[in-house]
Amino acid sequence: MTNATNATNATGPAGDQDRRCPVCQAAIIAAATGRPARYCGTPCRQAAHRARRRAQEAAGNLRWTRDRIRGDLARVAKLLSRLEESVQAGLIDGQADATGWEQGVDDLARHLAGVAAGLGSAAREHRRTVADYRTAIRIAGDALPAGTGQA
Ligand SMILES: [Zn+2]
Repeated sequence: MTNATNATNATGPAGDQDRRCPVCQAAIIAAATGRPARYCGTPCRQAAHRARRRAQEAAGNLRWTRDRIRGDLARVAKLLSRLEESVQAGLIDGQADATGWEQGVDDLARHLAGVAAGLGSAAREHRRTVADYRTAIRIAGDALPAGTGQA
């Protein structure tokens, strides 16, 4: 329920001289009466509304991706420790001809490689989603709270 960044977006600074539409950057002509316009017109206000929705969607995707990265990392760590055990069980000093462990090591190594590749693609996905999120909030002209859901 608490939004740490709310301080920035309630009533903006009163620098009305140089107000620009956050969507198209056109100068906004100050109305004589009423609330000062944030956007130059209806199309840009609607574009900002859509961008706000995209930003919320991107924020949700970011949470999901970050969870996935954490999960993949935990699986990598677990697989790596199993792999270490298997290798150490097979490569025993003084028993250079001990065998039978190799297939298990091979399987674990493949599994580890697959999980690690997934972790890498999740990281790339995260970078793309952050870019989407930043683009959307720039268009919306808002400072949306990153990583929080809408109450
Ligand atoms: Zn505009």
